[in-house]
Amino acid sequence: RTKESGRNHYQFYNPQMGVEIAENFTLENQLHQAVKNGEMILHYQPQINIKTGQVYGLEALIRWKSPQLGLIKPGKFIPLAEKTGLILPMGEWVLKTACQQNKKWQQMGLPPVIISVNLSAQQLQQPNLIETVENTLESVGLDPKWLELEVTESMLMKNITIAKKTLQELREMGVYISMDDFGTGYSSLGYLKKFPFDTLKIDQSFVKELNQSSQDLHIISAIMTLSRGFNLRVIAEGVENQEQLKLLKELNCEEMQGYLFSRPLSSEDVLKYLIGFQKQKNQFLLSTNN
Ligand code: C2E
Ligand code: MG
Ligand code: MG
Ligand code: MG
Repeated sequence: RTKESGRNHYQFYNPQMGVEIAENFTLENQLHQAVKNGEMILHYQPQINIKTGQVYGLEALIRWKSPQLGLIKPGKFIPLAEKTGLILPMGEWVLKTACQQNKKWQQMGLPPVIISVNLSAQQLQQPNLIETVENTLESVGLDPKWLELEVTESMLMKNITIAKKTLQELREMGVYISMDDFGTGYSSLGYLKKFPFDTLKIDQSFVKELNQSSQDLHIISAIMTLSRGFNLRVIAEGVENQEQLKLLKELNCEEMQGYLFSRPLSSEDVLKYLIGFQKQKNQFLLSTNN
């Protein structure tokens, strides 16, 4: 046995070291540190109204900028953050940062947009969510009409009574409520009656194969009909190409979000995007009006 492997051998079996390694390298611990160290950032994805040719809103999407691991998407850490309760401070940070950023853009004189913030299941069940939102808007000085909160159906199912009450109070405050990933849950239609939604976001799975699937076309068409009856705004998610844009337009879907218009952008890039949008906008309108 060489000296080298002997040392490795020793390290491997040192129980104290084992504990430390386990502590330092679990994703959970890294995630805690990351939140403390300010490694979370927000990207923003534009939502376009194709009829008016305007950026209607921006969805805030969290990323973890890890010095060791690089840029990590929320799918990789939100479930863990939910499990450990870390989602609560993280969610408050997202809300505050998104509102502050929106206020900043308004103060720069840009045309005002709605900032959309994704809520988590736990946040929605928090009795103090209303207070948190109210305090955040007040401290930032943002009018509630420039904030939209996105919830998913599965979040509502956890406790329908609390969810309903909370969403109603938020709505009364003047905040918009949006149903994310619409169509993927179990009881979407009943929920439209129960909860005070302003916006439906058509899940990207229906948009993805729109050009090949007449079923998806019919589903979106039905959602459009429903939305008129309920007086809801509709946004199609995951719009990636001109063909999808054209079909959605034919279905009278006016609002879209997706890579075709823009990937989620850093706050600096949003600024460039909003300023440069006027030129781009004319191209979209030209290409869809014929
Ligand atoms: P979501 O709210 O449905 O967000 C839309 C996701 O689709 C985003 O993924 C976005 O980057 C992606 N996307 C947008 N346009 C396109 C497109 O044209 N094609 C494709 N293939 N994808 C597109 P992202 O950023 O990875 O977020 C994933 C999910 O993580 C979100 O789904 C949301 O449920 C959750 N999430 C993100 N940020 C937050 C947050 O701050 N808080 C909470 N609780 N959840 C968040
Ligand atoms: Mg969303
Ligand atoms: Mg979605
Ligand atoms: Mg989603």
